[in-house]
Amino acid sequence: MNDSSNVDLRSRPVETEAEEPSVFSERRELVTSFLWLFIPVSLILAGIFYAFSNQTQKYELQTALIREEAALNNASQLTSLIFVQKLSDLFVLAEGEVLRAYLHEKNLKNWVRVAREFSLFARRKPKYMQIRYLDNQGMEIIRINNLEGEQEIVPRSQLQDKSGRYYFKESYQLNQGAIYISPLDLNVEKGVIEQPIRPTIRFATPVVDGYGEKRGVLIINYDPDELLQRIEEIFITRLGQAVMLNSDGYWLLGKPEDELWGFMYGREETFKDDHPEVWSAMESSDKGSFFSDDGLFVFQKTYPMDMSKQGTLENIEFSELEEPGQRRVGERHWIYLSHISKNKIDELTLKRLVVAAATYLMLFFVTALISLFFARNSVQKKLAYRQLKEFATTDALTGLSNRRELEKVGEREFRRAQRFNRELSVMMLDLDHFKQINDTHNHTMGDEVLRHVVDILANVTRGQDILFRYGGEEFLMLLPETHEKGAKFLASRICALVADNAYENEHVRIPVTISIGVGTIEAGDKSYHEILIRADQALYQAKRTGRNRVVVYDDSIADIKPID
Ligand code: GH3
Ligand code: MG
Ligand code: MG
Repeated sequence: MNDSSNVDLRSRPVETEAEEPSVFSERRELVTSFLWLFIPVSLILAGIFYAFSNQTQKYELQTALIREEAALNNASQLTSLIFVQKLSDLFVLAEGEVLRAYLHEKNLKNWVRVAREFSLFARRKPKYMQIRYLDNQGMEIIRINNLEGEQEIVPRSQLQDKSGRYYFKESYQLNQGAIYISPLDLNVEKGVIEQPIRPTIRFATPVVDGYGEKRGVLIINYDPDELLQRIEEIFITRLGQAVMLNSDGYWLLGKPEDELWGFMYGREETFKDDHPEVWSAMESSDKGSFFSDDGLFVFQKTYPMDMSKQGTLENIEFSELEEPGQRRVGERHWIYLSHISKNKIDELTLKRLVVAAATYLMLFFVTALISLFFARNSVQKKLAYRQLKEFATTDALTGLSNRRELEKVGEREFRRAQRFNRELSVMMLDLDHFKQINDTHNHTMGDEVLRHVVDILANVTRGQDILFRYGGEEFLMLLPETHEKGAKFLASRICALVADNAYENEHVRIPVTISIGVGTIEAGDKSYHEILIRADQALYQAKRTGRNRVVVYDDSIADIKPID
């Protein structure tokens, strides 16, 4: 037999005891519904967070990559822009009328005119450290030195033979309109590197007279410090450690000064030696990125010979390009390269993760709050439903199950007894002359007496017995597993107990007795109602034969009319 349901139904009328388990289960209910909401949602959140953290490093790398690429591209564009400007100046001088006139008539007057014009030009272009015209033999014919804002027309006696210099040889070979751009290196005066160092780049183009005859070359020595400074500015604001390299891997920018311009001092150390794997990755393309254990490297090459792409010098031929646009391997270029160390990336990733974790925690608490809100809502609904049900099945005065509940439980117990061939008895109890008690005292006092009797009944019943309030002052006790004799014994005890325990308070003592009829299951019964009718008939017999007694049904009283 399942005892637990019986114990529940035999709920005691004492209110505090009845509320205890309900508060407890409410709390448990709340915790359960809360967890049912909170655990799945926070798990989903955790999943999202996990995926996010996995993506973060990738994202951080990608963002860094895009930013560095943009900066390097800026530097490269700036280089092109500045160079194109210089190249047009070169043509203005090489193709000028004054130089043409001198080539036709080489007299002092014409020489002075050219020298003056070059000198004036130099005044407006402080970054052109030298402007020179060399003849077909490589001899300086006109030379303007332009240092610290002073233009010096070098006297003819001090002009030098430059036929052996690489820039003369290379530029003299070119056709009209072609340009020679030297490597970016340091200015050398009389065989010594000028101090403080002065980065220099030479632009040169052949000079042609009115008959189309080549008559030497025009050379501008340009001080690119404005360019280098602006590139440095671009680099400084970057996340990465940016450097500028020449095509041999020597540093031109972005390192302590004693590591720069190594090729000028015969030093061997280059970027190539520091990061051979990055270097070889750079060899095969003009721009790109490389990720290694050292972090992220982003690079972009700038080809000074490729200025025609800028559009302003479309019709110019470049010395090192046989066909425009086609680049030769090893062609001179500069590399702008940015390196973001692994630590830096980790640092950024960590920062983002901290923000994400904080967000997650916040969401976690919000989820908890929302879950709690819904859980409480749901528990309140359940509670309200349970209360409604309780009201429907419980008697308010005594706290006992009512007749509606009896229908359910009675049928269930009957079926069970029948199926397992067990005993089942029913006791009908009715207070004697209760109307008189009401009349003598009052209805409220009557209620008190009723509760007093219920207390006695509830104390006597055993675990599996179930007590119902059947009617006004009538009760029914369902006694599973109890045969007729047992029921009779219990009934007699109840009868005696009620009779021996009058209701008492400070003012009044009200004796009360009870009559009990007992019925027991019989083979062939179709429902518990049949037992109930027998018990009822026995009760009627008890009333008839003097009250305050127990009558067990037997066939001799079968025909006696029941009370109701
Ligand atoms: P008998 O011994 O024949 O049972 O006499 P009786 O007066 O108990 O019987 P009867 O059925 O004539 O009267 C029952 C009375 O019980 C009627 C009603 O006033 C009273 N009663 C029923 N329910 C309650 C209740 O909840 N509280 C109070 N105070 N009285 C009730
Ligand atoms: Mg009655
Ligand atoms: Mg009565």
